Amino acid sequence: MTLLMPAAAFDPGPESDEVRAREVRLLGEWAWWITSRGDALHAADVPYDPTYDTGGTGTTSCGRRTLLFIPGLFERMGLSRCKQCCRKLGYPTGTGSPKNDAGCRALVEARLAELCEAATLPAQ
Ligand SMILES: [Zn+2]
Repeated sequence: MTLLMPAAAFDPGPESDEVRAREVRLLGEWAWWITSRGDALHAADVPYDPTYDTGGTGTTSCGRRTLLFIPGLFERMGLSRCKQCCRKLGYPTGTGSPKNDAGCRALVEARLAELCEAATLPAQ
């Protein structure tokens, strides 16, 4: 007997997409997003797209509608946060993802609580 099975046998189904969508949304709130230019970190609303998983077409808080991705480690550490996104959401300007900036953590937590209350993001 072989242990290999068709991939479909492991497909956890649509409920898994909802869980993953929530994970990616949380990741995006902490890491922010980059465009294909990759020159700044933006806050963005990016509906979950299983094709890209950690990316998809969304709208940044500074008003750009484009393809966005969760940045990799070096981008999360080294890119500047978009000044317009910071201004719009009340975040301090600076370098690196909000999760890597002590001045941003409480703001991210408050924003997540607000999003949960607005029922746009299911509570964990
Ligand atoms: Zn921006």
